[in-house]
This record gives sequence, C-alpha cells and structure tokens, in this order.
Amino acid sequence: MDTKNPKYFMDREDQFGAHNYHPLPVVLERGEGVYVWDVEGKKYYDFLAAYSAVNQGHCHPKIVNALIEQSRKLALTSRAYYNNVLGEWEEYATKLFGYDKMLPMNSGAEADETALKLTRKWAYKVKGIPKNEAKIVVCNGNFHGRTITIISMSSDPDAYNDYGPYTPGFIHIPYNDIPALEKALSDPNVAGFLVEPIQAEAGVYLPEDGYLKTAADLCKKYNVLFIADEVQTGLARTGKMLACDHEGVRPDILVLGKAMSGGMYPVSCVLADDEIMLTIRPGEHGSTYGGNPIAAKVAVTALEVILEERLAENATRMGELFRNEMTSVKSNFIEIVRGKGLLNAIVIKPTNGKTAWDVCLEMKENGILAKPTHEHIIRFTPPLIINEEQMRDAIARIKKTFAEM
Ligand code: PLP
Repeated sequence: MDTKNPKYFMDREDQFGAHNYHPLPVVLERGEGVYVWDVEGKKYYDFLAAYSAVNQGHCHPKIVNALIEQSRKLALTSRAYYNNVLGEWEEYATKLFGYDKMLPMNSGAEADETALKLTRKWAYKVKGIPKNEAKIVVCNGNFHGRTITIISMSSDPDAYNDYGPYTPGFIHIPYNDIPALEKALSDPNVAGFLVEPIQAEAGVYLPEDGYLKTAADLCKKYNVLFIADEVQTGLARTGKMLACDHEGVRPDILVLGKAMSGGMYPVSCVLADDEIMLTIRPGEHGSTYGGNPIAAKVAVTALEVILEERLAENATRMGELFRNEMTSVKSNFIEIVRGKGLLNAIVIKPTNGKTAWDVCLEMKENGILAKPTHEHIIRFTPPLIINEEQMRDAIARIKKTFAEM
C-alpha cells in the first residue's frame, strides 16, 4: 500500500464501494479550519465544506474536545433511558430558536421525514383532515434528501428514476410562485407547505424578496403548517442564524442538520411548538442514535461556536466580498454569480466544450476545492470562519483559474 498515492485510494473506493457518488479526484487526509490536505500533502481551501456541514471549520478544537470528552464518559444509551445531556441540547436549541420542543435525529433526510410525519399527525389530530387524505405542498427543484418518500417529492429524474412506486400525498408547485401556492393551499386537505428558503442543491436559487413572508402568511390564512427545511441554509450560512430570519418568518416546523454538529457527527433535529410536537406519542417515532449523548454535547458546542465566533456576521461580510469580486471578473465562462451570505454559486457558460466539472478540476490545481451541482453550476460554500485575507487569496486563485481557461 502506497499511502502517498491518490490512485491507490481512489481505485480501492471504486472497487469496493458503491458508485453512488462521483467525487473530485482528490484524496483528503487532514483538515483544519478552512483548509484540507491531500495524501500527497497539498493544501486546499475547502469551498464545499461538506455541503455546509462544516460551517465552523474543519476539526474545530472546541467541538473536537466536546466529542472526545463526551465519548469517554457515555456515547450511546438509546432513548430507552434518559441521559444527562440530551435535555441540555433540547433546552439550548428550543431557547435559541424559540420553540416549545425539539426532536433529535441524525441525518437531514431523517429530520425532513420527521417533519412530514409531524405534519400528517397534526393534520389528523388537530386540523381534522379525514384519515389518509392529508396533502403536503412541495416545490419543483427541491432537495430534501434521499429516502423513498423524499424522492417521491423530487422533480429531479436522477433522484427518483426507477425508485417507484412513490409515496403519494404531495402537490408539486413551482418554486417562488405565490399564486400557485395560494391555489394549492385552498385545498382543505392540505396540511403543510415544505420549502427551502434558498434552493441550494438545485443550484442556489434565491426566491424574490418577500416570498417567504408572503408564503408563511398564506399558510396561516389557510391553517397550513409552514415547514422550513434549513438543513443547508440554516446555522449562519446565509448571514443570519436562519435564512427565514431575513424576512422575519418563524416556521411552524423548523428542520436543521449538517452544521448542527460542525461536521463532527451526524446530528439533525426538528423544532416545533407543543400543538404540533405532542401529536407524536411514545413509541410512534424515533431512532436508536437520535439524541445520543455525544450528538447532544457536540450540537450544543457547535451552536455555541456559531454564536461566539459571530459566524453569521462574517458570512455576510465575506459573502459580499466574494460576490463583488466575482461579478467583476470578465470571463467567457461566467454567466452569473448569485447567492446570499456564504451560500453562493457561479453559473458556467459552457465555452469551448468546457463544463463546470472542468472548471472544478482546474480550480483544484490552483488549491480550491468546489463541486458542480447539476451540470453548469458551481457552489461556493467555504467554512464561515474564513477571514478576509484567506477569502482574498481564494478569490485570486479562482480568478486565476478562469483567466487560465
Ligand atoms: N435538506 C436539504 C435542504 C439539504 O440540502 C440536504 C442535503 O444536502 C438534506 C435535506 C439531506 O441531508 P442529509 O444528507 O444529511 O440526509
């Protein structure tokens, strides 16, 4: 085994691993802050940050310590017993986000599934929708994860093809389309509207200003739950603690994941008030690892870091710098630069047969790691701890790449 040879590691993954991802050809072995290093010792800026899970930076020392200390004491009990840290996380998160209750899970997809189940329970127990008739409105272009029910909501053939039969009960409408939403909500069997405040995975699509507020108001008018999937947009990524905060919207159900652990552990959760959360009773939903002591300790610490290091403010400043600099670049390859805070994308014009993937390969040579989402869009989501000097250096490398191409 040649521990310095990237090909060895890539071949091994190819041979023994499922081919459900298409990684950039880089093999990483170490991370610290905004940087990662490959097996040959080359250093890169990580401009993906594990799809916004590593908002606090790689291997944040405070979160690492929380993980180590808690794992030495007690790692997993399942929810068959109480443990002495889950309540700390629940209290911290409910007070921070302003909800009565929190339900812990592990992945973002599980948290979204939880939100869907809560919405249906609420539909039957509170709203009074006839049994098995509840519907949930979702948007075209959504991304909420990979389970059968979640891909049943997807409009992306890569996500749903050959996985049928699909879960029924969803109404699809265009994103950022208020008249379509109001028409859908007027169906008395609609229980919820599930939406991403910015469609990140689809390619960082921002709705018009005021969309979320109007949508939330309409949900109130029709007694429908407004469910925000902030798995990717939440936790300071867009320059506020939640992307919904930009419009002063408080979702009825809030879904969080990814940066809830700063990349240290799979941690997600759902927040809601008692009227919704207490419709699920003991034995009706759960997960062996959900709410385990390590997850709880890591989550509280990861949230503390976001507040202590003022990551939302930094995301606003660094995001403006990024967009200002990149929009000024004259390149045949750049169609548009868009985003909010440090959730940004550059749409690539396929020029001379080169694609977003080719741009990412060239950026890698210049020390920047980023990945295309869909064919022509590159997402730029560095850790939110990035400072101005690092951002200017990274921008210079990205500009150099476009100039070289
Ligand atoms: N929801 C949104 C908005 C996401 O961006 C993602 C992942 O990218 C998920 C849900 C799924 O999260 P996970 O991959 O942890 O299941």
